[in-house]
Amino acid sequence: MNHISKENLDLLFKYALEAKETSYSPYSKFRVGAALLTKDGTWYKGCNVENASYGAAICAERTAYCKAISEGHREFIALAVSTDQDDFVSPCGICRQFISEFGPGSLPVYLLNTKGEFKLITLSELLPLSFSLEQGQKFLIK
Ligand SMILES: [Zn+2]
Repeated sequence: MNHISKENLDLLFKYALEAKETSYSPYSKFRVGAALLTKDGTWYKGCNVENASYGAAICAERTAYCKAISEGHREFIALAVSTDQDDFVSPCGICRQFISEFGPGSLPVYLLNTKGEFKLITLSELLPLSFSLEQGQKFLIK
């Protein structure tokens, strides 16, 4: 698992909580914020963005990743996700697959609740036996 300093961990949590404040979730009222730290130390925040056409919604995690990827980042150090729930809420299946595209499996994912607590889980734990580029290439070669 990537080492993350206490200073960066504090920022990761701060940004995940801040990101939640910009959530556009008039339908579900389920606010989510995400913070992402890239390998070169750049921070990205993301919130969930819903739509009247429900399927067009995008999760906070993918918002943060798309912002980072569109700026040229491909390697990530840590991700944090916050909600308004007392329990820990983990990324949905689509986000797990999306995040796994960039890995690594050891990526620490911090889930934040409203009690100021966090749960730490790795990407591999969230999505074991994930479909990857290597597997895809094998399929294409056949
Ligand atoms: Zn999601």
